[in-house]
Amino acid sequence: MTDISGQCLCGAVTVTATINTGERPAIVRACHCDMCRRQTSSMFMSLATDPGTLKIEGPEKIYRSSEWAQRGFCEVCGSTLWYGTLHDGVKNIAAGLFDNAAGAPLKLEFYSDMVPEGYALAGDHRRLTTQDAIALFAPQEGDNS
Ligand SMILES: [Zn+2]
Repeated sequence: MTDISGQCLCGAVTVTATINTGERPAIVRACHCDMCRRQTSSMFMSLATDPGTLKIEGPEKIYRSSEWAQRGFCEVCGSTLWYGTLHDGVKNIAAGLFDNAAGAPLKLEFYSDMVPEGYALAGDHRRLTTQDAIALFAPQEGDNS
């Protein structure tokens, strides 16, 4: 188990969490969907933290980006903070807030079929297509929360 802390570009927002507890090693995930690319200019890279350990303090603003998700950013400097799903309240924290991305390896890409033609992430990690990602994230039939 490791306690980590991070901050936005200006330092107004600070973040703490726990990673690497038990058999849940911390990983980095990259999302290439249109919305993440527009928000970040590249891809949204999040760090998997231990459930229930994430704490965010400071002036965060929330943007409702779709029917099922919202995104947090620093009100002062605009740094991307997190992507969150509404139905379960889970927030995927931006890996870039932590020094060295908390040392976690890239293990997963979402919307791998939407990566622009001009670049690609190297490495032998798991890649989920748009269809795979929607099946994983979209609210289930009958889930009206
Ligand atoms: Zn800031």
